[in-house]
Amino acid sequence: MKVYSVRCPDCGFMNRGLYLEETGGWFECEFCGSVDYAGSGVEVYVESEGMTPESSAGRAAPLRRAASAVSAS
Ligand SMILES: [Zn+2]
Repeated sequence: MKVYSVRCPDCGFMNRGLYLEETGGWFECEFCGSVDYAGSGVEVYVESEGMTPESSAGRAAPLRRAASAVSAS
């Protein structure tokens, strides 16, 4: 489950900790209360993809190997 940050297209407030996958991309702005769809023209950032040790280890390992391979050559 990814956690998203979305900038409200109406007031510019950055809404953090949103679970857009649960709402199908809809969110309610915490500042102005408007309900918007996180589609085109809306700034959407992925905060995290879950903090489980398995997912973080699986992501970090290939990156470390690639970095060492570059420095060795
Ligand atoms: Zn807003």
